[in-house]
Amino acid sequence: MLVINSGSSSLKYQLVDPDSGAARATGNVERIGEESSPVRDHDAALRQAFDALSEQGIDLRTCGLVAVGHRVVHGGNTFYKPTRVDDAVIGKLTELSELAPLHNPPAIKGIEVARKLLPEVMHIAVFDTAFFHDMPPAAATYAIDRGLAERWQIRRYGFHGTSHRYVSEQAAAFLERPLRGTKQIVLHLGNGCSASAIAGTRPLDTSMGLTPLEGLVMGTRSGDIDPSIVGYLCHTANMSVDEVESMLNQRSGMLGLSGERDFRRLRTMIESGDGAAQLAYSVFTHRLRKYIGAYLAVLGHTDAITFTGGIGENDAAVRRDALAGLEELGVVLDERRNLGGGKGARQISAEESPIAVLVIPTNEELAIARDCVSALGG
Ligand code: ADP
Repeated sequence: MLVINSGSSSLKYQLVDPDSGAARATGNVERIGEESSPVRDHDAALRQAFDALSEQGIDLRTCGLVAVGHRVVHGGNTFYKPTRVDDAVIGKLTELSELAPLHNPPAIKGIEVARKLLPEVMHIAVFDTAFFHDMPPAAATYAIDRGLAERWQIRRYGFHGTSHRYVSEQAAAFLERPLRGTKQIVLHLGNGCSASAIAGTRPLDTSMGLTPLEGLVMGTRSGDIDPSIVGYLCHTANMSVDEVESMLNQRSGMLGLSGERDFRRLRTMIESGDGAAQLAYSVFTHRLRKYIGAYLAVLGHTDAITFTGGIGENDAAVRRDALAGLEELGVVLDERRNLGGGKGARQISAEESPIAVLVIPTNEELAIARDCVSALGG
């Protein structure tokens, strides 16, 4: 399987064997369409990816490629299963772009270019929202005018679903427990951040909503705010709705508070005594603790809390600060294990901790490849 993840300015790809999980090749084309970049558009990016593969001796036409899996952020109400792409599907995806104007158009572009370059193989779209499709109505429904919500498909969809599902399965396997009887919280902390509460195979709640803007504080996104801020800025600061939206998506979160979106560089700023970076960090961990507390209550009983994503897998201080003092709620971290590092799946809670705390690397590409296999009928 070739898995393609087209973002607005980057294109990640991986050639992966879904059975063994082995990645034969992996790469990332960045800065697509930026002024000083040689990569003009997604067409050029995909051609560059194919060139890079052929430099490694891989010819996609003869290497036994079965299908291309494409990550699509928003499936709306229409798509919640891996879907074979044809012209009609492209048409429906284009209609859905209104729900995810930042995320879906580049994915559609990526699919169209890939279909042109690899017309003989099947192309399958896998949706970030799919895992949360059957979330309980109490968690999926916004308490707003019901008619409007229905008319405009406004609900809490949730995102990063491929990662939440994959990591929850890995967590149960790591603990040698049947997935069905396991209740867990998954914290996906990367450039985008989201939390989920999962009982068995079913998510009961997740922090992202209609779009990936809701919930935790992120690299450039605000996460939860009072919705009145939007109207207030439009009326008093004379900003347009588009300006406010772009501020909330691109110039908020850690970047908005400290001038830095990247957690590694933020850490250096904190160490050098930067007050804004320190405040940004406390806002981030405070919000994270609030969601952990909320999801402990949503689940009633929790077997595991798992960290994943670039920050979740690597930043021991975030894990410590998000969970400090929660012993009475059943969370006892082992500081030595937490600091211990390592790259693979690991337990960082103390043996006596009623709730296991784990770090599990996510692998969205592999999960997408396996979803494609299921779409092909096993
Ligand atoms: P994406 O959401 O785009 O897939 P990642 O999951 O790779 O991104 O997460 C990116 C974030 O992880 C960045 O904020 C980055 O600084 C942070 N990160 C990566 N490695 C480390 C590390 N060793 N320590 C702290 N943060 C890290």
